[in-house]
Amino acid sequence: MTGKTHDLAAFSALNLAYIWHQPTTISLSTFLAVLCANFIGGLTPDIDQPAGNLWQRLPAGSLFGKLFAPFLGGHRHISHSILGLFLFGYGSRWLLERASHTILVDMNLVWWSFMIGLTSHLFMDLFTKEGVPLLFPLSFKFGIPPLSMLRVTTGKLVEKFLVLPALLLFDANLYYHHYRLFLSLFHSVF
Ligand SMILES: [Zn+2]
Repeated sequence: MTGKTHDLAAFSALNLAYIWHQPTTISLSTFLAVLCANFIGGLTPDIDQPAGNLWQRLPAGSLFGKLFAPFLGGHRHISHSILGLFLFGYGSRWLLERASHTILVDMNLVWWSFMIGLTSHLFMDLFTKEGVPLLFPLSFKFGIPPLSMLRVTTGKLVEKFLVLPALLLFDANLYYHHYRLFLSLFHSVF
């Protein structure tokens, strides 16, 4: 999937998680950090390609991408697996715990938001022709549906005119049915 779809999917998953978890109070700084972490998490698995969206959005990112991406074994290897999920989760937890001494935000929520973005990325890539090597280092790639010819080609019409609108509709539906909840979030933050 393209970066745009991953951004939206990560945000949709965050909306859903908010409905399930409903944290009572969130400060403005935590709210912004949560959004940021969700955005980064949603694009992180694609740091295995030098032209990955996260690299493109960072200063000198394409240079870092070229240097760093080969260490992840090429596109859709460890960063698109359950093992990668654990490693990113463990590494980010460690980093956030260190940062929590100087940055006063709810790092637990920030971490969960990052992980939600990360997981949504793997979930969305399951619908693409290439599939996802969830059990890396085993090379078998999983996909939904199992027949790859029935899956989405990244950046093509089905993604643009079916997947993206479906995600937007999904969010609109969440806001419509839980508007009081989102309104209370808005009041608690601002
Ligand atoms: Zn990906």
